[in-house]
Parts: sequence; C-alpha cells; structure tokens
Amino acid sequence: MKNRVIRGIPVSPSIAIGKVFLYSPKDITFKRIKKKGSVDEEICKFEKSRRKSLRQLRALKSELKKLPTKEPVRLIDIQILFLQDPLLLNSVEKRIRNNKEAAAEAILNLLESLKRDFQEIPDSYISERYLDVKDVGDRLLKNLGEDEIEMELKGHNNIVVAERLSPTETAQMSVDKVSGIVTERGGKTSHIAIIAEALNIPAVVGVNGLLNETESGDEIIVDGISGIVVVNPDENTKRTFEQKEKEAERIQKEFLKHKDLPATTIDGYSIDICANIELPMELGFIKKYGAKGVGLLRTEFLYLTSESIPDEDEQYRFYSEIARVCSPDYAIIRTLDLGGDKVFKTKTKEEANPFLGWRGIRFSISNNEIFRTQLRAILKASSKGNIRLLIPMVSQVEEMIEVRKIVKDIMKELKKEGHPFDENIEIGAMVEVPSVCLLADHFAKVVDFFSIGTNDLTQYTLAVDRGNKRVSGLYDHLDPSVLKLMRVTVEHAHHNNKWVGVCGGIAADIVAVPVLIGLEVDELSLPPSFIPQVKNVIRGLSLKEARELLTQAEKMRSATEVREFLKGELLKRFPSLKNILLEVEK
Ligand code: PEP
Ligand code: MG
Repeated sequence: MKNRVIRGIPVSPSIAIGKVFLYSPKDITFKRIKKKGSVDEEICKFEKSRRKSLRQLRALKSELKKLPTKEPVRLIDIQILFLQDPLLLNSVEKRIRNNKEAAAEAILNLLESLKRDFQEIPDSYISERYLDVKDVGDRLLKNLGEDEIEMELKGHNNIVVAERLSPTETAQMSVDKVSGIVTERGGKTSHIAIIAEALNIPAVVGVNGLLNETESGDEIIVDGISGIVVVNPDENTKRTFEQKEKEAERIQKEFLKHKDLPATTIDGYSIDICANIELPMELGFIKKYGAKGVGLLRTEFLYLTSESIPDEDEQYRFYSEIARVCSPDYAIIRTLDLGGDKVFKTKTKEEANPFLGWRGIRFSISNNEIFRTQLRAILKASSKGNIRLLIPMVSQVEEMIEVRKIVKDIMKELKKEGHPFDENIEIGAMVEVPSVCLLADHFAKVVDFFSIGTNDLTQYTLAVDRGNKRVSGLYDHLDPSVLKLMRVTVEHAHHNNKWVGVCGGIAADIVAVPVLIGLEVDELSLPPSFIPQVKNVIRGLSLKEARELLTQAEKMRSATEVREFLKGELLKRFPSLKNILLEVEK
C-alpha cells in the first residue's frame, strides 16, 4: 500500500529515508533440536557454547570500546556477567541432569521461565531487561549450532524493522549501514531507545502493526522527531520528508550553536533547563547539549543494570560523580521508583492493579533496608556537590513526613560515623498523582520543592495506562485537565515560596513550551538532546504572551484542540519550525 502512515514513539530527534531490512530472528522451537546426546555430552555442549559466547562478547566489547559512548560496553558487560553467573550454570545443568533435557531445551525452558518472571513486573524499565537475558540465551543457542541467527546488512541506507531488538543486536549494527530503526515493541525508556540515541540513529519504537505493513525492500521514512513512519511514501511525501530532514538537520545545528545561552524570554523571565539522566553514559550529554545540571536522575536504572542490588559504596560513587559533573549546578537524585515487589522476587502476591499498587515511595517505605542504603549513599554524596533529593509516587502528606523522619535519623547516624553531608539538602516530591496537586498547599509545608511528572500525572488524571496501546490515543499531557492540575500546583507552591520543576515528557514537547512558560514553572528537565530546541523556543517567546496562550488553552475542551491551537501559534512565531512540527495526516 502506498503512503501508509503509522505512528510510534519518537526516540532520537532526526529523520532517515531508506529501504526496509526486515529483521526477524527465526523462532527457535523445540522442533529444531535435532538429536539429544547423553547427559555428559549435553553438559559439555552447553559449556562449549558458553565459552564461545564469552569469547564473542569479549571481542565485541573491545570493538564497542571505540564508540564515543560507554553504554554499549556496559550492556555487553552485563551479558558477560550473566554468562558467568553460577545460577545460570546450575539451572541449565540441573535441567539436563534431572529433567533429561537437551542443552538447547534446557536453555529454552530457562528462558521461558525467566520470561514469565519478567512479564509479571509491571514496570516497563524492568520488564524490558528481559531482552538482555534473551539476548544471551539466543547467543548460547546459536553457538550450540542448533540454529542460526544472523543479521546480514548489505549496502547503505538500511532501515532495520523488527518486532524488537536486543541491546546487543542494536549495538552490533554498523552505523554506516544502518540509517534508521523502527520496532513494534519498546518504549521511551527501553534499551533500544537508549542505544539508538547514544549512536545517533533516527528511531521510532512502539509502532503498532508495523510488521503487517512492511516487507523487506519497501521504501520507508523514519521520523524520530514526530514518531511518524511512512511505508512506501509517494513522491510528494518523500519530497516533503527529504525537505524536513534537511531542514531539521540545519535547525538542530543552529540550535546547538546557541545551547549555552540562558533560557530567558524576550521580556526577561528565566527558567532553568536541566537534563533527565538514567545512566552514567549520559553524563557527557549534560554539557554537550547545554543543560544546567540534572533535574531528574532515575536511579532505577542503576539497580536494573546491576547483577544485584547496588551497595552503598557503588551508589555513593555514582552519585558523587554526578554531583562533580554538575557542579556548581545541582543534580536532583530521585529515589528508587520500582513498579512492584516482583523485582526482588519476594513472595508477595501479584497485584491486580500494579499501577495503583506498591510503587515508588510506597515500596521504599516498606523496604526499609533498601531505602536507607540509598538515602545514606545520596546524603554522603551530597558533600561532593549540590545534590537535591526527590521522592517518587507520593500521594499523601504523611509519606513526606515519614521520609523526613528517616532522613533525619540517617543524618544522625552519619554524623556519629563522621561522614560529611549537606545538612540542608533540599527534599522534594514528585507530582504524579492528582491528590498532590489538589493538596499542594499542605504538601508545600513538608517539601522544599515539587517536580511535576506528567507521564504519570497524565495517566492518573485521564485513567489511561501509559503503556497500553489500545488506549494510547486517549493519552496526551496537553489535556486541559492536566494543565489545570499543574496550575493549581504551581500556585500553591509559589504561594508557599516553594519552587516547581517539570520533568515529565511534556518538558520535551516543543508545542507545550508556551504553556509551561505561562505556568511560570521554575525549571524544566528533559532528555538532553531535546534541550537546544526547547531553549530556542523559550528565547523567542515573552512571558506575557505565554500566559495568554495558557489561559486560552485552559478554556478548551480537549487535548486535540489545545495541541492544534498551540501548534498554530508556535508556527506564527517560529515559521522555521515548520519542518520539525510538520505531520502527515493519518
Ligand atoms: C513522570 O511520571 O513524568 C516521570 C518523570 O517519572 P517516570 O517517567 O520515571 O515515571
Ligand atoms: Mg513517574
């Protein structure tokens, strides 16, 4: 079909046009396990495959070390550790010995059971970590000689289209052969998204129905700015996107030139623009894209990319490094925001509504040891720079009172032990639940600042699961109800002399910039590569007109109306954004 437009989640702000390389690793099934040897033969086969896999990964690691970013190497390290984990060896060996399974069967069965464990985890960060395990499993199977999983890319301008890609598969792609990536699965925070951004490959993930619409060799457009994918574009569409691609490149370059200018409106209103960070490899992006510091460190990643729960020392080193890189600016460290107890494989029953369940601070308060270890590490690191503490998934004032009590107690402990720390460390609450907005006046008495997380605030306000594709059309952070909740929060906070930041996805949405300025929030925190363009728009607006635009937007009935209205207004002021904002009709 000509000109088929499909939408997904934009990952890296650039565009590519090329030919589809359909990547579908052949399903490895039991049918393909040809013949089973004796128990010893199967164990020996497994061991050989494990060693071969280790050799390959080490060789790959030394290749990847040449890349400017360290994340691909870190991911390979995780896989190497997994291959050396005695738990893996024992589980496979047990299956071969006790269940009389062939080596390949044992690996497949283990993968199946791990998959079930991971799927039970509601948090997408964690459930996506199954891909690392699966990646190692596929390599082991391949090295058993039971199947072939090859990715052979010919020529240039390949757009890799896949149901999903593992971190190693992504990292293995040679950048000169792959000009874009589109996957059916994956979210903003998936490994594929992180690696694609690190390698600067235009990518769109979470594209519903992608595989039904594409065949190898099809022409395809990947727009990592708007999340649009066009299969077999007609000449007109192609020309439009080629133009957009050129223009986007030119504009991004232009924006980057001014990345270090302050984010000040034409009538003198200034706002801090900070970076959202998940991993150590992103630290280099803070200065590269002109961020003022870190407005949100999602510490979950430190736990998820470690073999076990990171100890106080490991956390302390990471947090201290962030404080050092950001200095003299601040770094806001958010405590663990895990989605459920399954993470640590405790015996608690599955939750019927995990998003309304044991998340964020609720989890931390009831896992005292994990929480205290993290708080100790953050407090100790606060002696190395300007660190602020942020608490996720708060819904009741009592939770913040409890946090303060625990922090006070830890401070006493550290004092006794002779560790220095910032006694006046600011403690803030994430605003993700509508109750916090409506009771912000009370919260303001027990917090030093607020950080609005629109990703969750939108899902809880509109009752739309942020990860459910069936209702994703109903999800938009520009809904007037969300804007009103944000306004209430800012008004109460400012009335109590508390500052407010915004660290959810709205802060990277260029169309939303006028309303965020109109709200007079004090800080925006967003993925680093989006910072130059957001700063640029702020510098071209006045606070006065932003306030007026917000007032008009709040009177509207729906997110669609707000988005259309703001887009129109933005284009009037910044005609050069036409190519960044342009979308093809569905
Ligand atoms: C948010 O909810 O907007 C937020 C920033 O937190 P996360 O995306 O990590 O849930
Ligand atoms: Mg959140």
